[in-house]
Amino acid sequence: MAATDWHQMWKNLGLDLAKHDQLLGVLPDIYKSVYMVPQKNRPQNMGFFEFVVGDIHGIRVKELVQAKADGKVIVGSFCLYVPDEIILALNGVNIGLCGGTNFSNFAVEGILPTNTCALIKSALGFGLGKICPYYAIADILIGETTCDGKKKAWEILANHKKVYVMETPQLKKRRQARAHFITELNDLVKALEKASGKKLTTENLKTAMIKISKKRAQLKRLYETRKANPPAISGKDALLVSQITFYDDPDREIEMIGKLAEECEQRVIKGEGVVPKGTKRILLSGTPQAIPNWKLHDIIETSGAVVVCEETCTGTRYFESTYEIRGNTTGELLERLADRYLSINCACFSPNDARMEDIKRLAKEYKADGVILYTLTFCDPYQYEAMTIEKELKKAGIKVLSINTDYAGEDTGQLKTRVEAFLESLK
Ligand code: SF4
Ligand code: SF4
Repeated sequence: MAATDWHQMWKNLGLDLAKHDQLLGVLPDIYKSVYMVPQKNRPQNMGFFEFVVGDIHGIRVKELVQAKADGKVIVGSFCLYVPDEIILALNGVNIGLCGGTNFSNFAVEGILPTNTCALIKSALGFGLGKICPYYAIADILIGETTCDGKKKAWEILANHKKVYVMETPQLKKRRQARAHFITELNDLVKALEKASGKKLTTENLKTAMIKISKKRAQLKRLYETRKANPPAISGKDALLVSQITFYDDPDREIEMIGKLAEECEQRVIKGEGVVPKGTKRILLSGTPQAIPNWKLHDIIETSGAVVVCEETCTGTRYFESTYEIRGNTTGELLERLADRYLSINCACFSPNDARMEDIKRLAKEYKADGVILYTLTFCDPYQYEAMTIEKELKKAGIKVLSINTDYAGEDTGQLKTRVEAFLESLK
């Protein structure tokens, strides 16, 4: 069947068609070289996710065009601290807009300082460079005051798009932080009520909380199958699933991740895995890996190891914290949400000792042979924490390698040599 030509839709959204064609021209080759050539014995249900990434700016964007025509508000966000549940409850669709390639850097030259992390450069570049239909279709962007780079980035984005910024408390253990965050959630509700023309009710918020919890539960189910030896799914495939979940329809994700998890559970029962039993197992911890940032997973998994877990925002931080869906008022439900979100251990907050505990716990639960700490260049919060965490893990007898990189390919050979030497040390 011939692939659908989406050029008219992209043109209507105001994209730079020539640049956008260049982007879509290189993605299939990257995907093939990372996912299809080196990987064997993948779960069959990865077929759906492969289809989605193969049509990354097609069908889903068309669905959003339709959703908008049906009166839904399209929200772009960049951080786990922006609650999916509130957006969904207010007839919105939340699309994660973080970027994972330096292809878009051309659009931020002279706009962002060179010492800005690759994630911010990519995310802004996609929007300002007119090569992201998700950015183009968004009615409102929700920023947050997590790190300094992002805070200032919203000021630049606000010159081009409607932006609302939530203030996330920095010292989140302080007594007043919780009250402050709840106030912020209430203000976000007001902003989104205005954008959507809908009112938040106990019923629509509860319904949204149930749905988002189900989606997170399916991801957790899938991750459980990575604890097996051999793991049922590769790190690269699990990462792809998580990355797609940030912009796909939650109902479809519940169904498709559910199918994949079921297949992986069967594989575990049969002792089938994606790598031979005894393959060295890596826990990766650090900055989020937005699509199509598959660089470090590819290096690790083509060096003879398998990534069994990610302590990142595109990994366990996305689904581990839960809540009880109880409360008779929206105020009570927002408190449940506040507690859940404030329990995510992002390096942007201080102190953040619980992340150290998470890493040790996950290394044990997923039976990791070693931990790789991954930080993006110019990301101060994660680089600072990596130094302390590296020392602590060594003290606890856990093998650890710290890697600082960006989206460019120049250091791939050097990183591969370091990863191979680290894997050798695990024997
Ligand atoms: S790392 Fe922190 S700032 Fe970045 S997406 Fe995660 S929670 Fe948000
Ligand atoms: S990777 Fe670091 S510097 Fe970049 S947006 Fe996330 S927290 Fe900020």
